[in-house]
Amino acid sequence: GPIPTGYETRDGELAVDGQTTSQLVERAGRTPLFVYSSAMMSRRVADLRAAMPERLKINYAIKANSFAPVLKHMAGLVDGLDIASGGELDMVRAAGIDCARVSFAGPGKRDSELGTAIRHGATLNLESEGEAERALAIAEQLGTTPRLAIRVNPDFELKGSGMKMGGGAKPFGVDAERVPTLARRIVVAGAEWRGLHIFTGSQALDADAVIDAQANVLDLAQRIVEKAGVSLPKLNMGGGLGIPYSDDEVPISAKDLTEELTTLKTKFNIPELWMELGRYAMGPFGHYVTKVTDRKTVRGKEL
Ligand SMILES: *Cc1c(COP(=O)(O)O)cnc(C)c1O
Repeated sequence: GPIPTGYETRDGELAVDGQTTSQLVERAGRTPLFVYSSAMMSRRVADLRAAMPERLKINYAIKANSFAPVLKHMAGLVDGLDIASGGELDMVRAAGIDCARVSFAGPGKRDSELGTAIRHGATLNLESEGEAERALAIAEQLGTTPRLAIRVNPDFELKGSGMKMGGGAKPFGVDAERVPTLARRIVVAGAEWRGLHIFTGSQALDADAVIDAQANVLDLAQRIVEKAGVSLPKLNMGGGLGIPYSDDEVPISAKDLTEELTTLKTKFNIPELWMELGRYAMGPFGHYVTKVTDRKTVRGKEL
């Protein structure tokens, strides 16, 4: 197929981080193989940081790719890591990454997963009142102060996103109108209050839709903490930045988001504002290399 945009061509071949595909195959000793460009992942995060307001923090959602070398490389680029299971927590620990940098989202966390996360100082993005009570009880047993944030099920969604995370009866988060009561409960229980997680949808390629959703997220967060009478130490706006999956899709540019997000950040003055990147951080920078074993013509088309 065609050489993907942004990549070097050498001797008519795709080159990744200075090595041609033939050289990579020779190194691996066989096909198929996966090749990841650490240089392009670094550039992606650097470009995003350059475009975005200062002090915007970036999380890598490791389910996008948790292959140990990719995970370690990403951990060196971003501020924090988002996980969705105890298995992913094990991967982070195996990679030698400090669990204090981890936030743990995902409905249906088991007691054992909550316990390990609390013991290692990860922040729990609580998905329900029941989970909050279990986390508080486990932390008390462990004699530890848990770091707790609440994932909000917003009453709106990210328009045009490939996967909607809010705006109805979804597995993710606590209904926005019930969050103030839960936030007070967490603060009164003596936990370390880590704010709100509001993730409205994934795979968005339309900058205006992302801007709209982010404005709504900041507004909702403000309303929740005012109603609860608690501070907002941190707001995690979730993921959502998409990548093209076919030639007719146009990539989203971080630059198109800058101005609005800077305005929002100034207007709301939240100490920590976070975005989570999944596929946007690394999706376009992995290649599957395989050998052509056959060619044929079907209904007039050569495959
Ligand atoms: C998957 C995930 C992300 C990132 O996903 P994208 O779809 O690539 O934006 C961010 N946050 C959480 C909690 C996730 O589960």
